[in-house]
Amino acid sequence: MKISQVAVEVVRVPVDHPYTAGGRAVDANWHVLARITTSDAIEGIGYIVYPRPDLMTTIGSAARELGEHLIGMSVLEPEAAWEKLARRGDWVGPGGLLHCALAPLDIAVWDANGKTLGQPLHRLLGGFRDRLPTYASDGLWVSLSPGELAASAKQHVANGFGAVKLRLGKEAAPEMEARRVQAVREAVGPDVRIMVDAVESWTLARARRTGRVLQDAGIAWLEDPVHHSDVAGLADLRRRLEVPIAAGEHLYHLDAFRALLEARAVDVVILDLARVGGVTPWRKIAGLAQAHRVPVCGHVVPEIQVHLLSAVANGHMVEYVPRSAGILRAMPRIENGELVAPQGPGLGLELDETAVRRHRVV
Ligand SMILES: [Mg+2]
Repeated sequence: MKISQVAVEVVRVPVDHPYTAGGRAVDANWHVLARITTSDAIEGIGYIVYPRPDLMTTIGSAARELGEHLIGMSVLEPEAAWEKLARRGDWVGPGGLLHCALAPLDIAVWDANGKTLGQPLHRLLGGFRDRLPTYASDGLWVSLSPGELAASAKQHVANGFGAVKLRLGKEAAPEMEARRVQAVREAVGPDVRIMVDAVESWTLARARRTGRVLQDAGIAWLEDPVHHSDVAGLADLRRRLEVPIAAGEHLYHLDAFRALLEARAVDVVILDLARVGGVTPWRKIAGLAQAHRVPVCGHVVPEIQVHLLSAVANGHMVEYVPRSAGILRAMPRIENGELVAPQGPGLGLELDETAVRRHRVV
């Protein structure tokens, strides 16, 4: 169970249908993929994924350098491994690029840990359940017209989803933003939950006005209405609106989540596995949220987040965006609107090695 080898690759997986997000054209999902081999020939994998090339090869180099310090450590001691690597890079952390480089290594350690013990990650980390509700988040972009958005949402519901999340922030008038929600509501019927993500695109004043209109349109949550650093603004919105406020995917450190929770600024905490630095810190943030009676959700990587969210009692929903489907043999299956955690040991995921080789950049 001692780590004998660590390898890191950067993999660019082209998307089937290029789209625009945050004003940028997206044509590929970039991965930093870590592999850990143990003395008893167990391989653990871990990766982060982002739909932009910026700094991905740099993060890959940082992960490769940090990974050298894992040699000789046990995959049964992920806390010790995380702390050791975090200390090596502490002069550029916590957070930022350091966490993004740490995350694939930490995930790979946990995967190898589960494979060594013969247990799937959702059990190893707590075992609260083995599945949880999922929502479709792909193909519901801000660049689409209300009609296109409605057609895309309807397709997701036909594919088995009971909830969808739209991106907003395009329209100047609150009523026009609400029109997008109404178009989707008409297409999917009354029983499908509709969440909206404003991707930090509004001022506080606009978020107050638009939030009220969207609340009346029947949304299930309002995500990232204002910039993540505006904790007071989020808390203000939470007091004024009846719709749940969701935020957290841009935060890196436990302390930032503590500030968000202590300010009573959110009803739902969203965790990005790359930014928080992997599974090891993820668990602490989820526990902190539970202490504040706040449920947690994952940001992207549903095939990994489903394990983490199933493990804890306050796991809420999995965001389904299959950004890594192109390098995996299979994605977890969806049953009755729920994503089922893989039952194999560790992550229970198998890489499509031919695809990894084909898309490998470094
Ligand atoms: Mg979001």
